Amino acid sequence: MTNNLIKRTMRATAYPLLIKNLLNAPVVDDPQQQIVYRDQMRFSYAEFRQRVCRLANALSTMGVKPGDTVAVMDWDSHRYLECFYAVPMLGAVLHTVNIRLSPEQILYTIDHAEDDYILVNEEFLPILEQIKGRIDTVKSYILLQDGQQQPETSLSFEGEYEELLDGAADHFDFVDFDENTRATTFYTTGTTGLPKGVYFSHRQLVLHTLGVLAAMGTPAGQGRFHQKDVYMPITPMFHVHAWGFPYVATALGIKQVYPGKYAPDMLLHLLAKEKVTLSHCVPTILHLLMSHPNFAETDLSHWKVLIGGAALPKTMCRTALKKGIDIFSGYGMSETCPVLTIAHVTEEDLNEDEEVEIRCKTGRPMPLVELRVAGENLNEISPDGESVGEILVRAPWLTQGYLKDRRNSEVLWNGGYLHTGDVANRDKQNYVKITDRIKDVIKIGGEWISSLELEDLLCTHPAVTEVAVIGLQDDKWGEKPLALVIKKADIDISEKELLRHIRGFIDKGIISKQVVLLKIQFVEAIDKTSVGKINKRLLREKYQPQ
Ligand code: AMP
Repeated sequence: MTNNLIKRTMRATAYPLLIKNLLNAPVVDDPQQQIVYRDQMRFSYAEFRQRVCRLANALSTMGVKPGDTVAVMDWDSHRYLECFYAVPMLGAVLHTVNIRLSPEQILYTIDHAEDDYILVNEEFLPILEQIKGRIDTVKSYILLQDGQQQPETSLSFEGEYEELLDGAADHFDFVDFDENTRATTFYTTGTTGLPKGVYFSHRQLVLHTLGVLAAMGTPAGQGRFHQKDVYMPITPMFHVHAWGFPYVATALGIKQVYPGKYAPDMLLHLLAKEKVTLSHCVPTILHLLMSHPNFAETDLSHWKVLIGGAALPKTMCRTALKKGIDIFSGYGMSETCPVLTIAHVTEEDLNEDEEVEIRCKTGRPMPLVELRVAGENLNEISPDGESVGEILVRAPWLTQGYLKDRRNSEVLWNGGYLHTGDVANRDKQNYVKITDRIKDVIKIGGEWISSLELEDLLCTHPAVTEVAVIGLQDDKWGEKPLALVIKKADIDISEKELLRHIRGFIDKGIISKQVVLLKIQFVEAIDKTSVGKINKRLLREKYQPQ
């Protein structure tokens, strides 16, 4: 072997899995492909690459260096996408701040992550004004804004984002470094106690991107993510990198649409105008879209939507399918980067009920995900579609632990598997189905009742628009179920009628007899977490009789 060949071989084996490498092919393949921000901005992948370089130059001039932490407080925007790349590509850590947390919790996360710089949308300046005297680590701020007007604030900025980019060179030589370098960090959306930080390396994000590409790109038909798709996220970019899909969409080189702050009319407008074909969201957001007056007239017959973050209710699935939407479930959590499973329909000639059943399952594990549904002693339960256990996982992209929190990290990784805290069954076709969170399962007289199943059954009544079922402590039964129900505006129903509806399922043996203890309470609103999920912990506190 000549010296040159040896050198090349050494270089080949040392190729690190870095986020910058996700950008190589798409920019060359189709440099004119578009990135769109609301009705306000549209530019090509070639310009995107230049803007990433400009941002890297602007950040470096400000003093950002490898190992620093750069935080972003923004709605879903082209700017955020640029930060997804430029910040980690500099060897710095991107902290995606959950702007829906309280100002005190935000302060805690800024402090805990030791943020050095913050890029902040003008809308969130009041939050920073409230806590600014107590932010110790931040050296400077960059202003993000859609308009031109100087905001009223006492904070001073290194500059405005677009102006900084305009003044920076459009080339940057991103150097190689260790693929295990931390790329991102963000905080779980826990509702009590302090938020916990999770973190992911370049290697993990690249492998997660390839894993999702393999899982989403290979189905023969239903739910396939491919090069003719148009992508728009509807789960926030601050929460688990919008499920990692902006990385996947960029690696695919497809048109991407960023909707800013989620407003149902803007989302429906962009879905139609930009001909979006793939999105992901939690059921609450889809519910908002479905309840909007423009929903009926918006053509969504080419839209694929991956539902996660909470179980997809069967009634929602049916309504979406009737509208021509290709709807299906995925599953993951903050700690898992996040995607672990996807519920693609692979069987043909299924009737509607069978299709709905599969689309509403939690899904099959993605390539490289080792998923166990474990009972006692971490042993796998029988895959009979009924026995339940906790989902335990291993995969190359799971957080190694909670940031600066050894005790909780050890609990998370007890026995060498990441403990999800989700209870599920598994069937012979390898579809997993979450039946509850460990903490949300209702134990009536020793029997385990799935709150999710009960919610699904309540939703089959035409008068019900939203429901949450919780267990309340009870001296005699241990726990008793309470359903908090929001009625549809135009249909009335009494508690008795709704209980009769549930009684039908008990009589048919679909749900346990213990459910006769169910109580119904009609409410105007159901409390949600900062990412739009039903906040059962808070509901239990609120509705538990004293
Ligand atoms: P988070 O870390 O806030 O994203 O929440 C993750 C949790 O959401 C998981 O542990 C599950 O309890 C729940 N979750 C996510 N996807 C699904 C799904 N498809 N079905 C049921 N629960 C889900």
